[in-house]
Amino acid sequence: MTLDLLLYAVIVLATVAAMEGFAWAAHKFVMHGDSGWGWHKSHHEETEGFFEKNDLYAVIFSLFAVGLFFVGHFLSPIILAISWGITLYGLLYFVAHDGLVHQRWPFRYIPHRGYAKRLVQAHRLHHAVEGRDHCVSFGFLYAPPIDKLKAELRRSGVLDRERIERSVTAQGSAHAPVRD
Ligand SMILES: [Zn+2]
Ligand SMILES: [Zn+2]
Repeated sequence: MTLDLLLYAVIVLATVAAMEGFAWAAHKFVMHGDSGWGWHKSHHEETEGFFEKNDLYAVIFSLFAVGLFFVGHFLSPIILAISWGITLYGLLYFVAHDGLVHQRWPFRYIPHRGYAKRLVQAHRLHHAVEGRDHCVSFGFLYAPPIDKLKAELRRSGVLDRERIERSVTAQGSAHAPVRD
């Protein structure tokens, strides 16, 4: 069975979009929940060395994608296209989250305009709060408007206006919230 190239591309892109939804939910309800915080906590604190326990999530997702590649290769081009979508999402996650926001690459690049800037600022606001509760912006490729996130943080009352502003500008690539 052969799949039309266009259909293949549509499945890959749809998978990327679905993965963002899945990652958002997993981040909000599992990683910040009772069962997943044990690993994810390391990503909301200062860490020593290059790796953090939170990276185990990426390892699990990668292994899942590799498994799916095998299944797809032998059984179905549709599953193969889904595997490519998951892999592409992983790559985009790595560039946006590990790269643009947390600067886990050997050079410094901070976007100062456009959507990439909003993505970085939104994720800094995710890291603005101490601990796992009252965090905002759980997506990795989709970032809500910054004003909306600031308002959400103010409403929850855990951060004052000044610290919210400082989180957006002064946090840089850090994992831990800015403190006084
Ligand atoms: Zn988080
Ligand atoms: Zn992060």
